[in-house]
Amino acid sequence: MNEEIKQQIIFVLDDDNEVMTAALRNSDLDQENKQLNRELIKKHEAIIAKVEKGELLVKMDLNLIRDANEIHLNDKANIQEHHPQAVALNDWLDRMTEFGKEEAVKILEQYLDRDSHTPTKVYRALHILWEEATPNDVVAEPSFDEEDKCLECGSKVSFADATDTIVFVGDEIVKRHVGDITNRNCVRCTYPDQYPEYEHFDKE
Ligand SMILES: [Zn+2]
Repeated sequence: MNEEIKQQIIFVLDDDNEVMTAALRNSDLDQENKQLNRELIKKHEAIIAKVEKGELLVKMDLNLIRDANEIHLNDKANIQEHHPQAVALNDWLDRMTEFGKEEAVKILEQYLDRDSHTPTKVYRALHILWEEATPNDVVAEPSFDEEDKCLECGSKVSFADATDTIVFVGDEIVKRHVGDITNRNCVRCTYPDQYPEYEHFDKE
């Protein structure tokens, strides 16, 4: 992350926190919304701390940064003087944010829809690729970052199935080839009941 991106992230989160802090003083806001504001302020502060320490941001962090950046991205008249930085941050977020097959198709469709002359066969080609990419209509979304931490919650504990190939001679197993790992799921997100047993690995 370069210095300009870092500064813009801190700016948009601080700016949003200021707006929310001001809203907290406004008595018109109901208790529920006040509570949501307080929680979001805390989350923003935690992201700022991560950015300052150079820690890895998870998907949820990137989503919150995108939300906070939006107002500056839409400020085309550059009244708040952060529009160019907001455009740069948005591009950076697009590069950082992994998307799955479903989202990839949505992006392509939206792009094709812009041109009313897009031939039907282009949509059909996209549809064929979609069918190929999702056997049994199952969409496998990327769930882990490059450090193998869960993109949703940041935990590094996961359960996975391994498909080994076993060589039989008659009924005797003579060799076992270690196979691919499939169905890998974050324990904290997918099996919360079992997570306490493994929680200490995340704290190490
Ligand atoms: Zn998780």
